[in-house]
Amino acid sequence: MSNAVTGDKSRSLLEPVLRSRLAEFSPSRYRRRRRIEAPDIAHPVQVVVEGRPCISFCSNDYLGLASHREVIDACCAAAHRYGVGSGASHLITGHGPEHEDLEIELARFTGRERALVFSTGYMANLGIASALFSPEDRVFEDRLNHASLIDAGLNSGARLGRYTHADAKALERRLARASERTATGCSWVLTDGVFSMDGDVAPLADLAHATLRYGAHLIVDDAHGLGVLGTHGRGSIDAAGLDSTSVPVLMGTLGKAFGTFGAFVAGSNSLIEMLIQKARTYIYTTALPPPIAAATRVSLRVAQDEEWRRERLRRHIARFREHAALNGWPLLPSATPIQPLVLGSEDAALRASAELLEAGILVSAIRPPTVPEGSARLRITLSAAHEDGDIERLLTALARLQALQRRA
Ligand SMILES: *Cc1c(COP(=O)(O)O)cnc(C)c1O
Repeated sequence: MSNAVTGDKSRSLLEPVLRSRLAEFSPSRYRRRRRIEAPDIAHPVQVVVEGRPCISFCSNDYLGLASHREVIDACCAAAHRYGVGSGASHLITGHGPEHEDLEIELARFTGRERALVFSTGYMANLGIASALFSPEDRVFEDRLNHASLIDAGLNSGARLGRYTHADAKALERRLARASERTATGCSWVLTDGVFSMDGDVAPLADLAHATLRYGAHLIVDDAHGLGVLGTHGRGSIDAAGLDSTSVPVLMGTLGKAFGTFGAFVAGSNSLIEMLIQKARTYIYTTALPPPIAAATRVSLRVAQDEEWRRERLRRHIARFREHAALNGWPLLPSATPIQPLVLGSEDAALRASAELLEAGILVSAIRPPTVPEGSARLRITLSAAHEDGDIERLLTALARLQALQRRA
């Protein structure tokens, strides 16, 4: 739905160009936003989508911390103390005590020397590339990496190769070939810790082994693992029993399980110094608002302390998978809150999403190019903010959908 202000009929020369380009998008690929309201902060998964009340299974707020009372209070208190905006970039006057303390706490949380806060995860990944990669380097990426990691590799000017999804052997063959051909430059391996559209965990121990063997450097984007996997939510690297020796660069986001906004990179003192010197998306942008940094400090503590949130999430995941397996639904091998059902065609995914919405269940249809051709899907995400009854409603709605499809 468009929210164009009526009456302002633009007559610029650009208009006909844009209209004809927009007309080229096929209806099943056209992206639209929906206005989502959550009228009751105590029940953040109960949303209203264009007038229709439903339960949301789309958010990445896996622990329910976006609506946590103490997180909200910290945000408000910091706004009253420091104002809302940071007013400048970190290197001018935007770097304050909340950023400083958050970085120290993130470094402690990830078991690394230092951490550096970025304004978004997308920018953190681009910043890593601009600070570390040079044109004589080689970059190897998992085929299903998040778009921001792919863009980071593409923009860096380094030679980019993509290996078969979650296949450490395929990576190893590529690293071997590259090491025969060239002697100059570094090799970098980039992977999601948990794949954002599939929910599976990268084979980090095998990837680490391959990179160490060929003198390459492993970079892990743990946007969906931090807060959820590992001891006290320390993420997929911790869960794989690895540390900063085999994974020298860790990127994490704050807008998912931590429920706030922003991102960080953690690693050695020299890594952070290098980013401060050369990461353009760090240098040339306004620092994160101090209230967001203050809120994140609280959510980081709550995420570690409130183990019951992870337990509840695990219970929901187990319940969903058990029921889905019994009914023969097209599950992917995911042990995380991301539980996609791959339907194949874009129309099937869109139709299923629309039918679920009728039943008061909000699940988004994910289509190419976000996922590979022919693998359009429902991307269901579970959260500690869901009640057991919410999961049952989801399962009932999915069963009804399946019965309808059988009849069709
Ligand atoms: C969400 C996400 C990002 C981007 O983080 P933002 O803070 O939303 O920009 C990067 N990588 C992965 C794997 C993600 O899921």
